Amino acid sequence: MNTSMSHVVDVIAGDGIGQEVTPAAVRCIDVLAVRHGFDVTWRDRPWGSDYFRKHGRMMPVDGIEQLSDGDAIFLGAVGTPDIPDVETLWGLLIPIRREFLQYINLRPVRVLPGVTSPLRADKQVDLVIVRENVEGEYSEVGGRLYRGLPEEMAVQESVFTRAGISRAAAYAVDLARSRSGRLTSATKSNGIIHTMPFWDEVVAVIAGGAGVEVDKELIDALAARVVLRPESLDVIVASNLFGDILSDLAGAVAGSIGVAPSANLNPPKDHPSMFEPVHGSAPDIAGKGVANPVGQMWAGAMMLEHLGQASAAADLTAAFETVLASGTRTRDLGGTATTEEFTSAVVAALA
Ligand code: ATP
Repeated sequence: MNTSMSHVVDVIAGDGIGQEVTPAAVRCIDVLAVRHGFDVTWRDRPWGSDYFRKHGRMMPVDGIEQLSDGDAIFLGAVGTPDIPDVETLWGLLIPIRREFLQYINLRPVRVLPGVTSPLRADKQVDLVIVRENVEGEYSEVGGRLYRGLPEEMAVQESVFTRAGISRAAAYAVDLARSRSGRLTSATKSNGIIHTMPFWDEVVAVIAGGAGVEVDKELIDALAARVVLRPESLDVIVASNLFGDILSDLAGAVAGSIGVAPSANLNPPKDHPSMFEPVHGSAPDIAGKGVANPVGQMWAGAMMLEHLGQASAAADLTAAFETVLASGTRTRDLGGTATTEEFTSAVVAALA
C-alpha cells in the first residue's frame, strides 16, 4: 500500500449510469488533488457487460493480478438486463471482494440536505453499518440433489470463523470508539442456534474492555428499530446476510438510493479496497445524463479518507452537501439538474 501523496486507482466505470457518475466523481477528485497537493493516477479498466459480450467473461483472466498493485478500486456499477446477475456478480465483484480480502463492507447512512426521508421529519438518521463481507451466509458450501424430482433438495451451509467474526467486530469497535462509543450487534441467536450464539460470543470477547457500550439485538427487532428509532443507532455490526438486508433498509430510510455509498475494505491495507455507490446500473435512466452522482462522489470521499486524504474527503462531502442544500438537485431528488450541471456545481463549490 502506497502511503505517499501519489495514489494509483483502478477505475471500473462498468455499465449503465456507472459510465456517467464515475467520471463525475473523478472530476471532483482531480480538482481536490490539485488543491490538496496529492496526485492520482487513474487506470481505466473497460470491464463489465460489454467486455462480457466480447470475451465471455466480466474481466480478463488476470484481472485480479492487474488490480493487485493499485491502491484502490473505484467502481461504478456492473449489471445489465440481458446478462444474468450471477455472471456479473460472481465474475467481477465477488472475486474482487474475496481475493483482496475485503472483509468489511461499510455503509454510512445519513439523511442529506434536500433528501426527504420517508420517516417523520423529526427522526435523526446518522449511522454506519459494518457488514462482514467474505464469509457467513454467502458461502459456496452446499449443493443441489435430485434435480427435477419430487425429492429435489438444496443445502447451503453458513460458514462463520472466529478469525472472520473477530476482525469484523474489531473494525466495528474501533469505529464505534471514534464516534459515539455505542455498538449494536445484529444477531438471531434464538432461532439460529449454532452460528449466531458463536457470533455473539466472539463479538463479546472482542468488545470486552474496549470501552464501547455493546447491545445485541435480534435482527427482526433491529429491522423495526431502524425504522422506528434510527436515532438510537450509531454503529451496527452484522453478518454478511443481515448486513446486506439492513444496509438496504437503512438506505431506504435515508431517502434515496442515488446518494448512498459503500466501501469494501481490506483494513490492514495488504490489498486494494474497493469503493462504489450502492445503486446499480439503473438501465431505465442510463444514457440520459440525469443520474445522481452523489453516491459515487460520497464513495470517492470514503476512498480519499482510506488513502490518507481525510481533509480532501471532508471537502468533497461538504461540497456536495452545500450544493444539495442550495437546491441544485437531480431528478430523483425532485430537482431538474443534469448529472453534468450538478457536478459542475460541486466543482464550483470546491473552488
Ligand atoms: P441493477 O440490476 O444494476 O442493480 P436496477 O435498476 O435493478 O439495476 P438500481 O440501478 O439500483 O437497480 O436502480 C433502482 C432504481 O433507482 C431505478 O429506477 C434507478 O433509475 C434509480 N436510481 C438508481 N441509482 C440512481 C441514481 N444515481 N440517480 C438517479 N436514479 C437512480
